[in-house]
Amino acid sequence: LVTLRGVQKHFGDLHVLKDIDLEVSPGEVVVVLGPSGSGKSTLCRTINRLETVDTGEITIDGRPLPSSGPGLAHLRSEVGMVFQSFNLFAHKSVLDNVTVAPIKVKKLPRRQAEELGMSLLERVGVADQAHKMPAQLSGGQQQRVAIARSLAMQPKLMLFDEPTSALDPEMINEVIEVMTGLAREGMTMIVVTHEMGFARRTADRVVFMDAGRILEVAPPEQFFSEPESERAKDFLSKIL
Ligand code: ATP
Ligand code: MG
Repeated sequence: LVTLRGVQKHFGDLHVLKDIDLEVSPGEVVVVLGPSGSGKSTLCRTINRLETVDTGEITIDGRPLPSSGPGLAHLRSEVGMVFQSFNLFAHKSVLDNVTVAPIKVKKLPRRQAEELGMSLLERVGVADQAHKMPAQLSGGQQQRVAIARSLAMQPKLMLFDEPTSALDPEMINEVIEVMTGLAREGMTMIVVTHEMGFARRTADRVVFMDAGRILEVAPPEQFFSEPESERAKDFLSKIL
């Protein structure tokens, strides 16, 4: 579904992605781990073209990422992204947050968009909050709304960049449960997270990054029990 080949990215003199090769199959859940600054967020952001790459190729369904115009808007609808900060529209109700893109981008009639929106809010467990404003919700509820908003565009791929890092501990699980449910339903997902339980239980593969490189790719059982590189061993000794 997604292929990166020989991807290089610099920010000025800083080489942040070094010769990245990665292939993600339909329905696969890939968890990306690595120390701060290793390039995890940048990797996610190149996949929906929030960042451009210097060289190398990224394809989705075999097609290179479009660089602008309607192609780019289409890409953004195919690739959902959920960030650490929920980024909801503060002046719109929860339901409006979820329906705005289907109405504006997909030209769905409002009634239909609202039905879709309510069913998605139901799915992430916040249907009872539909008519509140985002600020009236807890962090965990807001993040679940953000997930519903992405799903409203019926993406083929979901990117999650530390979706639970800004949450109080008691709210982490409700978001992890939604993500686990999505994975079970067959969503293709690339997830940057420090939730090792999620990685162990749900990932098909773990990708370990360090200093802009992918150092290891392995099933979670293997990565957690016998990491190959010293860098991964060191990382795990600090985090587990
Ligand atoms: P963290 O775990 O802290 O989120 P990360 O693995 O997501 O880290 P990135 O955010 O991808 O790391 O950053 C990789 C490197 O690129 C870092 O050194 C960072 O400072 C740098 N960087 C990221 N975005 C930019 C930017 N827009 N301009 C310049 N440098 C950047
Ligand atoms: Mg990051």
